[in-house]
Amino acid sequence: MRFANVDGTRSEAQPKLRGICRGCGEEVIAKCGKHVVWHWAHRSLANCDSWWEAETKWHRAWKNQFPSDWQETILHDTTKGEKHIADVKTAHGVVVEFQRSSIDPAEVKLREQFYQRMVWVIDGSKNELDQANFAMSISRVNEHAMAGLRWYGRSKLFARWHTTTPVFIDFGEEYGFWRVCRFDPETKKGVVMFVDRALFVEALTTGQSDFSSGGGPASK
Ligand SMILES: [Zn+2]
Repeated sequence: MRFANVDGTRSEAQPKLRGICRGCGEEVIAKCGKHVVWHWAHRSLANCDSWWEAETKWHRAWKNQFPSDWQETILHDTTKGEKHIADVKTAHGVVVEFQRSSIDPAEVKLREQFYQRMVWVIDGSKNELDQANFAMSISRVNEHAMAGLRWYGRSKLFARWHTTTPVFIDFGEEYGFWRVCRFDPETKKGVVMFVDRALFVEALTTGQSDFSSGGGPASK
């Protein structure tokens, strides 16, 4: 995590510091290596957020597009006694989850039920083949920045995110940032839209859009 409490103040990791996790109240240790994103680590995540994934440069760079007050927002569902840490929750009430590791569709659904108003941002550059396959799978981009997709890849990248919640895939600098407008896991065909990262961030920051009106890849 980027933040933990040190003497009661929400603080970033610094070498040799110890802090208290804002989620579970257990001691966390600053990890400040040369090759890692400086972060706070638990001795054990057992009592903390089971949904939390190890932070990479990719996560951190995205989170930092938003005000730090919005990052790592702890959310409670008091009826279920559940608690999770949203990567970003905007002042307009939209949760933005930056997801790098793959999770199965049941898990996707659980998180959507918990966060309610949310958008997914998926790291599509984790697997080099996905990037290259994506470039080969799309038609020419039209004047509305839309392209047809015919997924030839073997990976389940698109099938996994078959949901009615807005899904964006970040294929990296070279391959771009795309919204998955529609996708049919049977035919492996769909529609994607090229999205300017800065405009995406601006829409969420200003509250101008939560992207829900367009639905997700599984919307009709
Ligand atoms: Zn914790």
